[in-house]
Amino acid sequence: VELPIHEAVLGHAADFGELPALVDGTDGTTLTYAQLDRLHRRAAAGLADAGVCKGDVLALHSPNTIAFPTAFYAATRAGASVTTVHPLATPEEFAKQLRDSRARWIVTVSPLLEAARRAAELAGGIREIFVCDRAEGHRSLTGMLAGTAPEPRPDIDPAEDVAALPYSSGTTGVPKGVMLTHRQIATNLAQLDSVAPAGPGDRILAVLPFFHIYGLTALMNAPLRNGATVVVLPRFDLETFLAAIQNHRITGLYVAPPIVLALAKHPVVADYDLSSLKYVISAAAPLDAHLARACAERLGLPPIGQAYGMTELSPGTHVVPLERLHDAPAGTVGRLIAGTEMRIVSLDDPGKDLGTGESGEILIRGPQVMKGYLGRPDATTALIDADGWLHTGDVGHVDADGWLFVVDRVKELIKYKGFQVAPAELEALLLTHPGIADAAVIGTYNDDGNEVPHAFVVRRSTARDLTETEILLHVAERVAPYKRVRLITFVDTVPRAASGKILRRELRALREHM
Ligand code: ATP
Ligand code: MG
Repeated sequence: VELPIHEAVLGHAADFGELPALVDGTDGTTLTYAQLDRLHRRAAAGLADAGVCKGDVLALHSPNTIAFPTAFYAATRAGASVTTVHPLATPEEFAKQLRDSRARWIVTVSPLLEAARRAAELAGGIREIFVCDRAEGHRSLTGMLAGTAPEPRPDIDPAEDVAALPYSSGTTGVPKGVMLTHRQIATNLAQLDSVAPAGPGDRILAVLPFFHIYGLTALMNAPLRNGATVVVLPRFDLETFLAAIQNHRITGLYVAPPIVLALAKHPVVADYDLSSLKYVISAAAPLDAHLARACAERLGLPPIGQAYGMTELSPGTHVVPLERLHDAPAGTVGRLIAGTEMRIVSLDDPGKDLGTGESGEILIRGPQVMKGYLGRPDATTALIDADGWLHTGDVGHVDADGWLFVVDRVKELIKYKGFQVAPAELEALLLTHPGIADAAVIGTYNDDGNEVPHAFVVRRSTARDLTETEILLHVAERVAPYKRVRLITFVDTVPRAASGKILRRELRALREHM
């Protein structure tokens, strides 16, 4: 049977009954599965009573809170498509997303109400703003508990109807609205379930944002579908994060590379008892094998596993199965999940399929490939070809056992005198230097017209005297000459998206102003 996403995830909620579903990592407030089940049904009734209909777009504008899943599943149960909004979006950015998605409703939280009101004014077309908590003059989702409206029964077609409308991260350009149907999300959940199961007794820490597809899947849909407990933090702060792992006896972490970096290198990590942890999975950006090893060794864990995907893939295609963490090759992002096809094609000759060990563009076909970009048919056909293959824009290769290795994005490769250099490789190498806290690499044209690797480096507070020459040498000693870093700029921080990705376009803008 095909189920809409709220049924696919919460179909068993009543059976899990008194087990904790969501715990506020800051104050310990807990929502049991029975409460989550009742709350989201009542909130769906309230939303429908307020006028939310099948096909409406509802913007969910909230940091991670224990009410976020209630709002999400209530909206889909009422028949709406949910477009998730970055909680720190400016009113202008938010308004742009509201207009682009033709949203009619907003759910926000009281601390963000002003931004939401302003965005609604700018965008127009918003019928009502609800809050998850409480605010004067606004209906609250929790307040809807007392309502008497009947539970809505919209006629949802899981194969066609859009459940989620997340926007891609905007790492390489403008964020695009990605239409994901109930079927696409539910199918991908089932595909990932068999390789990375979490169940009753497992406690997952949700620090990556629910509004991004990675958090929505790995930290919300997947654990809640299986009876695990999700401990929720509103933002990443290393000490709060470590304290939450210790105090809530967290068993599993889904993170992005910057958190692996902090766990591997930051001195305060040693002050916390992290012995409850059983595994750490990283995704969303390239993770270097050395860094992964350093992190796992420091925490006394099996090797860090990786997963790979993109918003347009609902989002997953590859993951290192938990039972293979010990023997998967270092640096792999995992194996292709069931029901999905992959090809690796030549960058110079896109029609040519490459063999084992050869790097080319990763192409994916499967039931999790998005329905399309909202209102951008040209961008959709540019991404997904007539045979259904989605061109990921990522470069990778596969070994003889089917393990995938992602090199970097095609667009980020630096072309130095006909050679290709992956920024991710140089970034990883820079991070192996004890005086370097963080680093990012882009291509910059030097005076003789060659594109060369240009590193932006954050020095450790204990290594303020680290020089450019030392860094250039550190890299030069370890790579082929064509890969050498040729330019260095010291910076205070590396700009990153909420999902942990380096925003190289911001570095390019910085370079233009140098
Ligand atoms: P936009 O498409 O708007 O420019 P984006 O591609 O960063 O933004 P997402 O859908 O959040 O938006 O990210 C998907 C991308 O993240 C992939 O195409 C890939 O480049 C990168 N990625 C995801 N997982 C991994 C991984 N394990 N290793 C390396 N890169 C990864
Ligand atoms: Mg992308």
